[in-house]
Amino acid sequence: MTATEIHGYKINQEIQIGLLARQVMDDQQLAHHQKTEIIYAAKMLVKKAGNYAYDNYLLHGSDNRGIMQDRDLEPEKTNKTPEVINYTSNHYLSLQRNPEVIAYVKEQINTFGLGCGSSMMSGGRNELHCAIERRFCNLLGKEDALLFPTGFTTNMGILSLVRKGDLVLFDKECHASMLEGMKTSDASKTQPFIHNDVKDLEQKLIQNGNYNNVFVLVESVYSMSGTECPIKEIVTLKKKYGFTLIGDEAHSFGFYGKDGAGYFSEKGFIDDIDIFMTTFSKATAATGGVACSSRGVASTLPLIAKSYLFQASMTPMASAAVLKSLEIITGDPSHRKRLWKNTIFFRSCLNKLGFDTKDSRSPIVPVYISDYAKLIQLNQRLQSRGVYSVPIIFPAVKKEEGRIRFNVTAGHTENDLLETIEILSQEGTRLGII
Ligand code: PMP
Repeated sequence: MTATEIHGYKINQEIQIGLLARQVMDDQQLAHHQKTEIIYAAKMLVKKAGNYAYDNYLLHGSDNRGIMQDRDLEPEKTNKTPEVINYTSNHYLSLQRNPEVIAYVKEQINTFGLGCGSSMMSGGRNELHCAIERRFCNLLGKEDALLFPTGFTTNMGILSLVRKGDLVLFDKECHASMLEGMKTSDASKTQPFIHNDVKDLEQKLIQNGNYNNVFVLVESVYSMSGTECPIKEIVTLKKKYGFTLIGDEAHSFGFYGKDGAGYFSEKGFIDDIDIFMTTFSKATAATGGVACSSRGVASTLPLIAKSYLFQASMTPMASAAVLKSLEIITGDPSHRKRLWKNTIFFRSCLNKLGFDTKDSRSPIVPVYISDYAKLIQLNQRLQSRGVYSVPIIFPAVKKEEGRIRFNVTAGHTENDLLETIEILSQEGTRLGII
């Protein structure tokens, strides 16, 4: 194994780079330039050994198949350009390649131009934004909707409602954007509850005593594990303890529920979600985010949420893509039907082969591999044989809960799925995983 020492840190090609980066950055004995030198050296060691997957990209962007590249190698100078079947895309409905969406975006750019000039509050709003907001209100039966430039900053903005004297309880698997939102909020206390564990949430509601307001944060479907939120039980607690419920539908809006209105709608609890959010970077194939709520909340947020006040608004390109995607989502169920058919087929084939997908239900299909070395080897083998998926490892998840995540989309063909299943079967057997 290749190993070396730099500024007192011993590094080798199997080091867990994300963890090292955090340790090094927190080391007060090191100068700033030493920290970045250590991290760079470690990254290059790990990368040379083929254990760094994060510099890979698809030459022509997100699609169900593409040519894999490495950002350190110019496309013309590399002969390592295998075609891969892509499982990294969050565009579940594959609308990023939909000809109607693309044509509509081109047309709207002629009218609206490319940029919006400023933030929503200072002249950067246009009619595309208003049309999206109206559509969300109608679809979800909420009083008002507000657009943000990204999903990440939507969550950050929403959490500026949390003030001194308030408590936030959040599912342990909640997305980093909520964690950042809590950090920059004035919350007096934030505390996680065990993932999807309603009993643990109830205990924390009881234990925590008196706060001015209690906020509970959940996702409809969790991005790391593909699990669904026990929304019925959480709403029962809400009725008993009276908290404000914030629900993130990033990984379900567009393909759960009637007209694709999402998981909370499908389960009949959309009225119990005080603040609904979703990002536009998943089913709606663009970027941006929306918060849907009462008029009171929507009137307050623009005045206090820095990510609304001080961030340029969603571009016309992204807005037009979202608007057309919404029209397709509500008017044509064929895309989500294909997505679910692919999802059910893929997961059941993997389960029959003996792969462990635990209690995932959604088009996010995690394959759990507790042995870290085998997980990394399998991921490398998949990439070299043309399957592009994402390893999710410690510290993002517990050491023994490492997994390779496959995002199934409507655009995957039967051939794509069968080829992937065959490769997984061969490599999984070879490594003794199944
Ligand atoms: N919430 C969840 C649950 C997410 O998974 C993500 C992105 N992966 C976000 C919010 C942030 O959205 P965006 O990347 O569109 O800013």
